[in-house]
Amino acid sequence: MKTLLVKNATVVVTMNDRRQEIPDGGLFIRDGFIEQVGPSKELPQVADEILDLTGHIILPGFVNTHHHFYQTLTRAVPAAQDANLFNWLKTLYPIWARLTPQDIFTSAQTAASELALSGCTTASDHLYLFPNGSRLDDEIDAVREIGIRLHASRGSMSLGESSGGLPPDSVVDDEETILKDSQRLIQEYHDPNPGSFLQIVLAPCSPFSVSKELMKGSAVLARQYGVHLHTHLAETEDEEEFCLHLFGHRPVGYMQEVDWVGNDVWFAHAVYVNPEETKVFAKTGCGVAHCPTSNMRLASGIAPIMEYLAAGVNVGIGVDGSASNDGSHLLAEARQSMLLARLKEGITGFSLSNDPGRKLMTARQALWLATRGGAAVLGRKDIGSLEPGNCADFTAIDLNHLEYAGALHDPVAAVIFAQPVKVDYTVVAGKTVVKNAMMTTVDEQVLVQNHNRHAHKLLAAL
Ligand SMILES: [Zn+2]
Repeated sequence: MKTLLVKNATVVVTMNDRRQEIPDGGLFIRDGFIEQVGPSKELPQVADEILDLTGHIILPGFVNTHHHFYQTLTRAVPAAQDANLFNWLKTLYPIWARLTPQDIFTSAQTAASELALSGCTTASDHLYLFPNGSRLDDEIDAVREIGIRLHASRGSMSLGESSGGLPPDSVVDDEETILKDSQRLIQEYHDPNPGSFLQIVLAPCSPFSVSKELMKGSAVLARQYGVHLHTHLAETEDEEEFCLHLFGHRPVGYMQEVDWVGNDVWFAHAVYVNPEETKVFAKTGCGVAHCPTSNMRLASGIAPIMEYLAAGVNVGIGVDGSASNDGSHLLAEARQSMLLARLKEGITGFSLSNDPGRKLMTARQALWLATRGGAAVLGRKDIGSLEPGNCADFTAIDLNHLEYAGALHDPVAAVIFAQPVKVDYTVVAGKTVVKNAMMTTVDEQVLVQNHNRHAHKLLAAL
């Protein structure tokens, strides 16, 4: 029985149902779970370990709902810098076809470290290429060493160019191989219990790279084992045209046809979704991973997040793959969510509207998306808020950073409104992964050198 007392924080943002914020607060943790949350003076004063966070804000650990860790190797590739989604993919597919298991391992450590340094304690990742003997296991091994929780999505592509799909035939697999490996991964790794560090998700890549049979087969297999389903959806207008042409449906209609609706399904992007389709999400419980930077980077469009929230759709935040962001800073992404939602309101006439029900996204709403929203999207009740019984996952930021000077009238809003910083502490299940804004589980400089070596090799032979 190991205990940790965290005390004297300027404010603890609980993100509980009452959205309580506790001044001069702290946490009492036992064996990786929260036992008490409250004012420092009301907590037990004796513990195996004591962390004094005077001058810090404590927030629940952030939850990332969409990423492709391996893409940290192909950030800012010159030929893919100024392309839309389909052209960006066509440029990068041949490079990704050269990935090795070591590339997958190193890039996952880089992405998971970046996430941890931005306050993230649980990440979903979507790996959908397995060239040269690569396996999802390579990423799982890497993230275990880093120490954050992982929802590892077994991605897949089965619709190559010769069958009318977008990716070259060299990076697609046959349905049987994909489903067999998916089943192996679930049986070997999936842990659905409270406090789970690893869950498996089935994640055919997108409507334009996967056959209808694989979408249906994945849904059947996922439900047999009670694992979640994830894919890219309604990201661009190109995709909408593709779906109408090939399947006779808009993307959401196609998902309904292949039985991909329910509270065990979440979609990345969901930019081109109309009000009727929003009702489908709300009624069936489909979640959305909002990836604002990627949507701006690839000129994809602006997702209707305020409409989703008004309709009761679960929305989380995703930094998306590092080739379309090109970073993994979750706090920055939460800020981007707020700013982009406000821009959308501006474009559609907010300043001229007399509708009192029409509101701008607030900083606290953005923090909610990054915590409770993400937890709901991943189907987790044990993370996303600081409450007794939940996982002891939190992040803490020193409010004495230059970036917050003059913003301490409201420190909670300041972490979103002000320039995003590296967090000072990230703690997962009571274990410190980030301390004084440095990783404790990996040597960052060695990792950067390794990573650059792998990235250079990947592009060198082109
Ligand atoms: Zn993506």
